[in-house]
This record gives sequence, structure tokens and C-alpha cells, in this order.
Amino acid sequence: MIQDINPHVFKNSFIQADSCDEDFVFQFRGGDLLLKQQGEEYTIPFRKEAVQKCEQGIFLFSLDNTNCFLVQDFVVPDDSGYVYRGVNLFRVLQPREVAWASIVAHQLLNWYELNRFCGKCGAGMKLKQDERALYCETCGNTIYPKISPAIIVAVVCKNKILLAKGINFRGGFYSLVAGYADVGESLEAAVVREVKEETGLDVWNIRYYKSSPWPVSGTLMIGFVAEADDRQPIVIDPKEISDAGWFSRDNLPTYPPADISIAGEMIELFRMGKLSEL
Ligand SMILES: [Zn+2]
Repeated sequence: MIQDINPHVFKNSFIQADSCDEDFVFQFRGGDLLLKQQGEEYTIPFRKEAVQKCEQGIFLFSLDNTNCFLVQDFVVPDDSGYVYRGVNLFRVLQPREVAWASIVAHQLLNWYELNRFCGKCGAGMKLKQDERALYCETCGNTIYPKISPAIIVAVVCKNKILLAKGINFRGGFYSLVAGYADVGESLEAAVVREVKEETGLDVWNIRYYKSSPWPVSGTLMIGFVAEADDRQPIVIDPKEISDAGWFSRDNLPTYPPADISIAGEMIELFRMGKLSEL
């Protein structure tokens, strides 16, 4: 999955740290991130690469024990190796640890930008020094990065899996049923509701699989396996799904890559006959 960058180590623990020359800096222009390119590979610039004094910035996380900071102004040498790359590229950018750090930095950038002012009283928000949070001196409002939980479910029946094609899926691939948990709803209830709404099927025997953060949309994907009876009629929700059906191991349609998405990993497990063991 996208967060699997072993042997590299990503730590999101918040620390109070002063930035030094050996730290990585993340500087965005619009939604594009400044990176250094060598051939097909990218690196994150170090603070010491700046040609002008650069502000302290906001601590983000650490990558392989190097602290990472978000800065606004970062002037690099006039060198063709420095490029701005958009968030859409981050998923497939190489190496993977740079892609992962970039995508999480982009999520935090969005959060800081969307919360410059207090949602309660409109005053300017301040950085909290001891945790990853913003607070309002005027009314005391404190906010933390927002993460939206979404279920993703591999519905199986004997030797078949239910796959659906979303109306917004590019490239015509099929994937698992997924959707956001609603207010006041457990994840299990979200599984039952989403499968019913999108395909008309009733499911049972819901088991947890794994979770995967998806920083592009600030989502935490929570994977489940569930069972259904394939004699039930499939009734798709045309607002969300253009097609859905049961597939056996030897006639699977194109599905997402297993090394990036939790859906791809679960479909790959089904293909190998290992999903029913979970
Ligand atoms: Zn306020």
C-alpha cells in the first residue's frame, strides 16, 4: 500500500524542534511541490540548499530520522534540477519514500491553508507549540488535522468477488465498494449501508482487514471482508457506479495496483486464494 516504504521510516510524532541545515524542506507553489530531479528519481531539498536565509517553517514529521519542515519561501540555486511537481504525480513518484512524504506534506499544507482563521469567531489561528494543532487566542477554539474515515469492502461469495466500476474511475478499472462513514455510524454499519446503496446486496460476517491512509483526500481507508449471497439481484446506484458484478479468480477485470491501494492488495489476495482465510 502507499504508506509501505520499508526499509525507510516515516514518523509522524510531533516534536518541538528548531530547523537545521540538514533538515528537509517542503515548499509548495499552488499545489505543486519543489523537488530535485535526477533522471526519473526525485529527492527532497535540504535546508542548506537555500541561497537566501529561509524561515524556520512548521514541523511536519520525520523521514529516516531527518526532520521535515513546511516553509513558504525557499530560494534555491538557478539549477534545472529543481522542479515543481503536482500532487497527482505523488502517487507514482519514485522513490516511494519521497512520494509518501510529499503526499502527507500536501495534506498538512491543505489543512494549514484552510484553517488560517477561526471557524467560530473569525480571528487568526495560531500554531500550537506542543502538538500538531491550531488554536484561537480570542475564543479558545483548538483544532486538529481532519481525517475522514471511509470503509472499503471485499464482498465475497464462495469463489467469487463483487467488484464495481465507479463513474469517476479513470481507465475503466473495477474496484471494491467503498464510501465514507456517516455521522453517528459505526464502520460495520457503514459497510452494510454502502454495499446496499451501491449494489443492492445484503452482507454479513464482516471482518476487519487493514487500514491505509489516503492523504490525497484526507481519508483513512478501513478495509473489511464480508459475505453475500450471489443469488441476490444486483441493483447499482447510477450516481456512483456504472457497473458491478461477480468475478471469479480467472476472469478478473483490470483492478488498482496492489502496491499502492488497499483495494488492489485485497483483490490480489483474492486472486491468490488467500482472502477467504482472513
Ligand atoms: Zn476563535
